[in-house]
Amino acid sequence: MKKIVIYPGSFDPLTNGHLDIIERSAKIFDEIIIAVVKKNSKKKFLFSAIERKKLIEKSVVNLGNIKVKIFTGLLIDFAIKQDSYTIIRGLRVLSDFEYEFRMALMNRKLNDNVSTIFMMPNEKYTHIGSSLIKEVGMLDGKIDDYIPIQILSEVKDKINDEKNK
Ligand code: ADP
Repeated sequence: MKKIVIYPGSFDPLTNGHLDIIERSAKIFDEIIIAVVKKNSKKKFLFSAIERKKLIEKSVVNLGNIKVKIFTGLLIDFAIKQDSYTIIRGLRVLSDFEYEFRMALMNRKLNDNVSTIFMMPNEKYTHIGSSLIKEVGMLDGKIDDYIPIQILSEVKDKINDEKNK
């Protein structure tokens, strides 16, 4: 059976930390479905869901076994619909652990057939996330090492537009 893994997140925008996890997963699974969350009541996104999806697609063109889909509703329901029984999440610093632990156990409670597995990125990326990159970018800091080269100028333009609003 084809091993399909779901990698869910906001990806607002995709960073090299995300890409690191995607590249590692691509070596283990037959197919990765990157699941872009459409809305989140706790977060205001800089990029629309369609923009976030396109940025990911541009960044993964060299990896063959990847699909990018926008989803709404429960992640577990989306995973089952995609015939996937595995969710991958990245673990950076210890502070990620508590939230991820709760979420994984809740998802298991919702459907015990779906398991969550965790992966650590290269240590170059353990301290970064999309929010920090946006914050640094808004203050004119250099973000070049953290955003995939294919989307860097687009991300910088959007951050600049937001800054000048
Ligand atoms: P969410 O809103 O679901 O946390 P994110 O886009 O912030 O969405 O993150 C998606 C997933 O990618 C999460 O599992 C998160 O821990 C992981 N992630 C985010 N940044 C990094 C990074 N720098 N290195 C590894 N994993 C990361």
